[in-house]
Amino acid sequence: METENSNISQLEESENPYIECKDLFKIFKRSELEVVALRGLDMEVQKGEMIAIMGASGSGKSTLMNILSGLDRPSAGQVRVGKRDLLNISDDDLVLYRRLEVGFVWQATARNLVPYLNVIENIEMPQAISGESGKVRKQRAMDLLSILGMEDKAKRQIQELSGGEQQRLAIAVGMANQPPLLLADEPTGELDSQTASRVFTLLGEMNKIYQVTVIVVTHDTGVSQYMDRVLYIRDGRISSVNRISRRGDKTNEEEFLVVDKVGRLQIPQDYLDNLNFEGLAKINLDDNQMNIKPA
Ligand code: ADP
Ligand code: MG
Repeated sequence: METENSNISQLEESENPYIECKDLFKIFKRSELEVVALRGLDMEVQKGEMIAIMGASGSGKSTLMNILSGLDRPSAGQVRVGKRDLLNISDDDLVLYRRLEVGFVWQATARNLVPYLNVIENIEMPQAISGESGKVRKQRAMDLLSILGMEDKAKRQIQELSGGEQQRLAIAVGMANQPPLLLADEPTGELDSQTASRVFTLLGEMNKIYQVTVIVVTHDTGVSQYMDRVLYIRDGRISSVNRISRRGDKTNEEEFLVVDKVGRLQIPQDYLDNLNFEGLAKINLDDNQMNIKPA
């Protein structure tokens, strides 16, 4: 019985997407005021994918990242990462999840690094917390520094690094425990575009070398060259997805609207603006085409 069950769960694990959010809600309550930051968000991410999330300020990007990182809990709906159900997870398991299964990079460089530790100590610290031996810690730190091309800066103080170097080091710190998931919330928000592209290149390298699933929130246009998909979030839901395919050095990007299981979709903003589309609409089916027009 026991083996049968574990076989089933293994099977499910290999067939299911690595991350699955279904009808996810997050409601913030501040005294009388309620803010619905996520309203029925659906999302699936496959193991080893590298995706970007884009969307206007206030659309719910950070709320989603905080839930996926185990820093905050959803109000309703389903969210699963690997085997973990992040809605019903115990507080103890959530601590373990944060420590071992997810690396996180914030926009504010100061939040990612410990200022009184040097470069290599910053990479060793999360490993020390999770109980790795000194030997493993050093080896992993040196491996990560060589990916960064910063071996010669192992003993530098954080303040001696440039902003770009600090963010790249933050990615190494996020990868220190070799988590299966790496999340970055606007990691390049404070960097110029050339430095930003080095950060995206490094995220791509981590994705390839460690097969880590990467989700990065960004406002940088032109990130698709580094990504498998770009998800657009609007008003607390995924509104559209750009799928990126590569052939040789050519990148092809195709946009899709997201329709959920009850048929909801978000009409692109420019269509709305052009047609002055709000309120009632007429719809008819024409073979496999659907026509919607303002009533
Ligand atoms: P984004 O990262 O896309 O800019 P957020 O996820 O930070 O958006 O915020 C989504 C919405 O939720 C916004 O309206 C924001 O004001 C609100 N919000 C986020 N965090 C909190 C909080 N801790 N308390 C109350 N409202 C919040
Ligand atoms: Mg944000």
